[in-house]
Amino acid sequence: MKTTQARQQSAQKNGHSRPVLIAGPCSAESPRQLMETAKALALTNRVDYFRAGVWKPRTSPGSFEGVGTEALKWLQDVKEATGLKVATEAGNVQHAREALRHNIDMLWIGARTVSNPFVVQEIADTLKGSDVVVMVKNPMAPDVDLWAGSIKRFQKAGIKNVCAIHRGFSYWTRSVFRNHPWWHLPMELKKRLPDVPVICDPSHIAGDRKLVPMLSQRAMEMGFNGLMIEVHPKPENALSDANQQLTPASFLKLTEQLFGNIRDIDGQYNMLDELRAEVDVIDQVLIWALTNRMKLAGEIAGIKNKNNMETLQPQRWKQVITTAVSRARESGLRPGFIEKLFDDIHHESLSVQRNDGAETKQISGIRPTFAI
Ligand code: PEP
Ligand code: MN
Repeated sequence: MKTTQARQQSAQKNGHSRPVLIAGPCSAESPRQLMETAKALALTNRVDYFRAGVWKPRTSPGSFEGVGTEALKWLQDVKEATGLKVATEAGNVQHAREALRHNIDMLWIGARTVSNPFVVQEIADTLKGSDVVVMVKNPMAPDVDLWAGSIKRFQKAGIKNVCAIHRGFSYWTRSVFRNHPWWHLPMELKKRLPDVPVICDPSHIAGDRKLVPMLSQRAMEMGFNGLMIEVHPKPENALSDANQQLTPASFLKLTEQLFGNIRDIDGQYNMLDELRAEVDVIDQVLIWALTNRMKLAGEIAGIKNKNNMETLQPQRWKQVITTAVSRARESGLRPGFIEKLFDDIHHESLSVQRNDGAETKQISGIRPTFAI
């Protein structure tokens, strides 16, 4: 476990004297909610930008879709009262124009918007010539090209300060995370665009406030350039993302643990939980993949049966195992391990095909191998 000092050094290595902190509620709900949160956050002396969504992209119609332009005025009031810079999401040209008109300091482009290059380009054209900071969230899909492409559109439009935000990726089945982190993807983005700071948004990765501290810690350990964390005075009553927002007090405790003097005693346990949660997701993927592979084996059995083909096709087996072993080698896995694993998979696949009624010839003394 790195010390606080080591973490700060790692932030410095990335060209920043300390990690950028962005905090505030998921949505602006009322002037009072906004001001109360902002004043509490300003007192921590650690927050660089106060965030609040004014237009909310919701999955289903009928959910709270944000207060709209009126709340930009509340953000201006916050800025005046606390001195904090303010940030909101721009999902289209109209939002971008309104935000500029209200002197919003930073705009983030949401995960759903980033997936649409037409809209991203229009927003970039609208922001041309302004000195607003733009933070580009990763798209819902795990597509680094699309993420990098959106960032480049803003850079090409002359925006000087463009950052990336890692908020996790949509995932087709349930996991402990709302959006799976796939940490290698923001790392790949860093490799491709080394000058673009990458901020982590643990709130949207987690979907659950209990996971926010360990994800934040993980992000700092990995050398992210900052954090964006959702904070609400009464998270359980929040009109959006109620499960993932922290109270100002727990946000303060978290920043003390990460950057201050509180010793990070449960850090290691948290990290273990976080890594195990990721392993659980990968195991889920393995089971999903095997289930689908066996289903396909059943369908193939039907075709072979109809065409009077033998279940065991040595040529095909050779091709599959050669490809698997060479892929294993490329990714640093032991070829022997993959050969053994595939041998078992093929064995199972063969019995699935036999059960499906395909005519098989048992070759005595030879373990039947791959059959698909
Ligand atoms: C948000 O930050 O509140 C938000 C809607 O983010 P995302 O686009 O990551 O879902
Ligand atoms: Mn949110």
